Amino acid sequence: MSRHHIPQMTWQEVGERFEQGAIVLLPIGANEGHGKHLPLATDTIIAVHTCELVAERVDAVIAPVIHWGYKSQMRTGGGHHRTGNIGLTADTLSALAAEILVDLMEKGVRRVALINGHYENTWFITEACHRAIREAGLPEGELRMLSTAWWELTDDDVLKACFERPPGAIEYEHGALLETSIMLSAQPDLVHMDRLPQHEFPAFPPYDIFPPDMSWANETGVLAPVDGANAKSGAKLMTIVADRIAEAVIKELGAIRRV
Ligand SMILES: [Zn+2]
Repeated sequence: MSRHHIPQMTWQEVGERFEQGAIVLLPIGANEGHGKHLPLATDTIIAVHTCELVAERVDAVIAPVIHWGYKSQMRTGGGHHRTGNIGLTADTLSALAAEILVDLMEKGVRRVALINGHYENTWFITEACHRAIREAGLPEGELRMLSTAWWELTDDDVLKACFERPPGAIEYEHGALLETSIMLSAQPDLVHMDRLPQHEFPAFPPYDIFPPDMSWANETGVLAPVDGANAKSGAKLMTIVADRIAEAVIKELGAIRRV
């Protein structure tokens, strides 16, 4: 457990860190099926892991994680119908994140980085930032937030540097090579390499259907092959991701680099 987690600290310790200029990292995940080989908390674990790596690089404290995300979508997360998938509506997620942001502002925090682990959360985190700005009512420019996710910091060159056979399309990486490799590096005891998907991965049509067309759902919810997943590649990828997020929070939020 990283010593930068707010819930593990006393109120006094947190206050001292804020006074010293620590920024707040807010991890946001989901409770979503990731195949038969990864846990429901995969996106949550990866979001927290990302924050821990960033907090090793810059002076930051990690807020309690938001475990609940927006509903899993068929083309990006395998579908919300799967047993164990428990998610929030857009309104609830954006209100929840906004309330946390506003309360942090009331406690004197002015710089927050929101670190997302679940693709479907993206625009509702954006909405939370807009709501927090409105609701905090602080003078313009006083409050600054940065919102990102591990996949935003990757590109073809990074993936080529980390993986012998990089994935074809990152948008189909749900429960696949990248997330499995990251989980093997972050929490290998929760990965079941003997339960990898054995089915085909047909491409989806370029649109969504509501209510969801259940014939689009595959057996596991994994959307691309897992072959070649390994801890070393996952760790290398997350090192690059954490370095890049650290650079961004130093540049954009004035975070102080650890020496
Ligand atoms: Zn995921």
